[in-house]
Amino acid sequence: MKYVVVTGGVMSGLGKGITTASIGRILKNRGYSVTAVKIDPYLNIDAGTMNPAQHGEVFVLKDGGEVDLDLGNYERFLDINLTSDHNITTGKVYQTVIEKERRGDYLGATVQIIPHITDQIKEFIRKAAENSNGNGTAEICLVEVGGTVGDIESMPFLEAVRQMAGELNKKDIVLVHVTLVPEDNMGDHKTKPTQHSVKVLRELGLHPDIIVGRSETVMNSSTKRKISDFCDVSQKAVISAATAKDIYEVPMEMEKEGLADVIRDFLGLEERPVKNDWYRIVSREYTKRASVAIVTKYGVEDVYISIKEALKHAGRSLSTEVDIYWVDAESYEESELRDVDGILIPGGFGPRGIEGKIRAIKYARENNIPFLGLCLGFQLAVVEFCRSVLGWENAISEEMGEGKHVIAILPEQEDVTDLGGTMRLGNCTVDLKDNTMIKKLYGSDTVVERHRHRYEVNPEYIGDIEKSGLVFSGSSGPRMESCEIPEKDFFLATQFHPEFKSTPTHPSPPYIGFVEACANRRKGE
Ligand code: GLN
Repeated sequence: MKYVVVTGGVMSGLGKGITTASIGRILKNRGYSVTAVKIDPYLNIDAGTMNPAQHGEVFVLKDGGEVDLDLGNYERFLDINLTSDHNITTGKVYQTVIEKERRGDYLGATVQIIPHITDQIKEFIRKAAENSNGNGTAEICLVEVGGTVGDIESMPFLEAVRQMAGELNKKDIVLVHVTLVPEDNMGDHKTKPTQHSVKVLRELGLHPDIIVGRSETVMNSSTKRKISDFCDVSQKAVISAATAKDIYEVPMEMEKEGLADVIRDFLGLEERPVKNDWYRIVSREYTKRASVAIVTKYGVEDVYISIKEALKHAGRSLSTEVDIYWVDAESYEESELRDVDGILIPGGFGPRGIEGKIRAIKYARENNIPFLGLCLGFQLAVVEFCRSVLGWENAISEEMGEGKHVIAILPEQEDVTDLGGTMRLGNCTVDLKDNTMIKKLYGSDTVVERHRHRYEVNPEYIGDIEKSGLVFSGSSGPRMESCEIPEKDFFLATQFHPEFKSTPTHPSPPYIGFVEACANRRKGE
């Protein structure tokens, strides 16, 4: 196993996750098999309990792991399926060490950060790297250390990396440092922040092999030379990563900068035939356009990153550029929905903004505007249908308060008390009904998709609802997984989250159907 360790300097939000995912992609295009680990130095055990408005989307893995959104980027860029083990947090490390201490595993030793915590970190990294998990064993493992070097929180992780570098053969580990290269008002690139952050790294006993400089415009050779001189890395190992129009272009830009060759030299990798299909897919030209309103309560785009990307993947495959309009569920005017080609209601928790979302669904249904509902969007589509078509004015989800609970907690979910415990998480197999749109889209009898929710369609009302024209087209046992209205051009909602499995090379079928319907509506005008 060879390791590519990625650290970040100067500040957060530099796009370290995209850089890491892109490094993975260029290595994969060069014929190597790659996996990836994200280290999050916070004390939370996982991202499940974290507020997405602060931390971005909670991504869900096939094993039900609720993880940092960077793992979503790894899965999308690398076409792999990761597990909870691939997201290491301080919380997980300390929990494990403390459990071992209580069991007496340390045989009376004083339990300390070095060596006990650092050993545990190394063990977790190795375990995740070797966890092939149906993807075949990877040859290279990317390790992204979250946070910025110099943070107190990330110290034990950087120390673990330092130890790893000493224990492994020189050719089995390469250190990539991603830093900010700002421009002054003359447009000159400034290297001082990079120099300082490399200095911090060196004080921790780590020396970067490669420096990736994030800047608005491409760095010229004299800037690279300066970084090379001051930071003691060869000039060809200084890589310019200018802000790209589209994240999927980043690997191509990095390939052009020679990053793949530099990593190959450091790791002593053999030359293999280059595969270019990914580049072809992500640079396909757009010939059509479609606009989609996403009605949300957060207004932070990072919360819906998988949805945004899934729309993009589907759009690319249909040569359709999708323009997204973020619509505030609590304050929008109906005119904001009038001019779009499609309406999408994403997942969410809690009552805030739901009446606005229900109104948007009503508007889509009554005006035959293509509609896609996801998780909470599915539940609210059922609520809206019950209110407007069946005349059950007080229909609501049990999560939101009193009324006729057409969406409810099923008895088997009820007795679990802690917040994480009642969630239905991760992969589930969904049976698709014959002669439905969803079955046509997937082209199969069953699909495996990912869940993250607590409430379900109340079995008591399914018969009445279906009699009135809403078809539950997907199910898993007693649980309804999707619904559609056959007489509409495109009205589909899913209890699962198809966006978590969408990648540029495998766009998600419900998203393809939705974007195609939006593009057709645009064309018809
Ligand atoms: N709040 C809803 C539930 O728990 C929907 C969750 C979601 O949209 N992810 O069932």
